[in-house]
Amino acid sequence: MTAPVIGVLALQGDVREHLAALTGAGAQARPVRRPAELDAVDGLVIPGGESTTISKLVDIFELREPIDKRIAAGLPVYGSCAGLIMLASEVLDGRPDQRGFDGIEMTVRRNAFGRQVDSFEASVEVTGIDGGPLHAVFIRAPWVEHVGADVEVLGRVTEGPAAGRIVAVRQGNLLATSFHPELTHDLRLHRYFTQLVRTAS
Ligand code: GLN
Repeated sequence: MTAPVIGVLALQGDVREHLAALTGAGAQARPVRRPAELDAVDGLVIPGGESTTISKLVDIFELREPIDKRIAAGLPVYGSCAGLIMLASEVLDGRPDQRGFDGIEMTVRRNAFGRQVDSFEASVEVTGIDGGPLHAVFIRAPWVEHVGADVEVLGRVTEGPAAGRIVAVRQGNLLATSFHPELTHDLRLHRYFTQLVRTAS
């Protein structure tokens, strides 16, 4: 089986870490900055970073319409943290001018955990990922406050003041987490996404 080509939106954020994790997970990983590069991928990762900046750069690099179109056509996309915000249909505490891809029917709150602590780590059990809970790293992370009927909740925080908060979701070929598996050495989530891309293409 040939390795699927998975792009990482390389405008801002932790692009390198996702490229390394995808390579480790058996994908052909490539940075995506231009529409022609987007055309060549079977799946896309939107990295963690700053969603307001990514939103601006998506317009400057003329990627908004091409990405909207690919998502509408079923492109598998995985968003971590800022990437989760970019995939949401509604953002609370966002900047008025930030715009995402309206892919997953969910309301997310930006910097939600940040009111208590800027960053923290927790164990999160993710449906569909075997081998025990993931070690989840949250950095000024959003959480998901509401999901539509077609959204599958894959994981929640189970400990501490944020217990019960939704932090991993999937709707069709779109996958999103509030946390950053690319910052750990655990490749299971990137393997899960690579498999999703394989199945879709
Ligand atoms: N707070 C950031 C945002 O609003 C997300 C943080 C992250 O990706 N680590 O986009």
